[in-house]
Amino acid sequence: MVIEKICCLGAGYVGGPTCSVIAWKCPDIKVTVCDKSVERINQWNSEKLPIYEPGLDDVVQKCRGRNLFFSTDIAKSIQEADLIFISVNTPTKTIGNGKGRAADLKYIEGAARMIADLATSNKIVVEKSTVPVKAAEIIMKILRANTKPGVEYQILSNPEFLAEGTAIDDLVEAERVLIGGEDTPEGHKAIQELCWVYEHWIPAKNILTTNTWSSELSKLAANAFLAQRISSINSLSAVCEATGADVSEVARAVGRDSRIGPKFLEASIGFGGSCFQKDILNLIYLSECLNLPEVAAYWQQVVNLNDYQKNRFTRKVIESLFNTVSDKKIAILGFSFKKNTGDTRESPAICVSKTLLDEGAKLHIYDPKVETDQIYYELTHPQVTNEPEIVRKNIEIHRSAYSAVTGAHAIVLCTEWDEFKELDFKKIYTDRQYKGAGQSDLTLTCIYCEKLASFLTDNVLQLILYV
Ligand code: ADP
Repeated sequence: MVIEKICCLGAGYVGGPTCSVIAWKCPDIKVTVCDKSVERINQWNSEKLPIYEPGLDDVVQKCRGRNLFFSTDIAKSIQEADLIFISVNTPTKTIGNGKGRAADLKYIEGAARMIADLATSNKIVVEKSTVPVKAAEIIMKILRANTKPGVEYQILSNPEFLAEGTAIDDLVEAERVLIGGEDTPEGHKAIQELCWVYEHWIPAKNILTTNTWSSELSKLAANAFLAQRISSINSLSAVCEATGADVSEVARAVGRDSRIGPKFLEASIGFGGSCFQKDILNLIYLSECLNLPEVAAYWQQVVNLNDYQKNRFTRKVIESLFNTVSDKKIAILGFSFKKNTGDTRESPAICVSKTLLDEGAKLHIYDPKVETDQIYYELTHPQVTNEPEIVRKNIEIHRSAYSAVTGAHAIVLCTEWDEFKELDFKKIYTDRQYKGAGQSDLTLTCIYCEKLASFLTDNVLQLILYV
């Protein structure tokens, strides 16, 4: 079989950018990205795409309508496709067994059932969403239990390693593509078909093939290792603050060791995003189910340290404002979980904002790419304890950083957006003191973490922190 048509189920952060790049690099393949959300598909077909990702607009512009299509006609695209990517969401379970840790596979199962119902010819089904180990088995069971005459399935695991904010570069210059399949002649053949798609632009040496379970576990392991590095340096940031050491100097010295390397060693308020916490929790849950409590406890500590860091940062904010933030105006700069994305899932800014709101603060929030409704949603949705009406009364969303910080008692930098580097902190400080809310006895405090500190020149830092 030569792959002529690809269908992708799920037009989210994974499916959208991945399939856009496949369409761009493989003009001989027709790629249709489907979603059951009409609104999402309409956005993909509009001028304003539903996700912000540097370079994505250009790629979509080049290919949309040529060999890249966004559609809600799931039945048609499943039927005509040779290969189907499953890129649906796999949130952490909120009820039942494994609640708060295990992944909820209902969307994966739903996608597999749809394929089983609709397919009328052979398909290669590729699991792309991050899933717990052995999820491919579920897809396999559903598909093979519902096989129609003349329809055969091969199930592959092809986890996505892109990082939000650099997704397009990560896809175009992928350090590795991982493809797992069954150890049978048919399995090997399916792996080769998917390799062929990637070989349009990825050197063959960067494409790794394994068995399905190694592929699934590698994805969880990669995210667990990355998150662990962040928790490791964050744990040391607390030690540095207690001893007078400078965590960025420690990171620089440690990172020079080629066995360790310099990347991912910047101390921060903590990691966020849809994957790190979720994948580690999956790994913990898997370890517990395999009766490996020591392994589970080891990885649990990475998550605990992340919660500790977010709380420690917020405590510092409150302490530096004389232990009370009640009715104080606090500017929150940045709400996405990192720069160059509008994604707020598990963003540390949520935890910081919620605690400050609980303490009675008035928050003035600005983020270059997060929509106003999304900020309200994150701070008011049902799992949040704050009363929605009170939250709405106590937050104001701004369209610029300067507007958010005007008259603020404190500026809390939550995301390392480049544009915050350009802010004239000296001017903000003087404006605050002389023209601000008229409370010149209150110090403008710039709470910062090491990742953000590099934004401020030493001079300005001192000015803001120590006056
Ligand atoms: P991710 O970050 O993993 O890409 P998202 O939540 O951004 O996750 O995107 C997943 C998308 O999958 C959502 O837009 C959701 O509507 C879609 N989806 C879930 N189940 C199905 C399905 N059976 N068919 C098509 N789309 C689906």
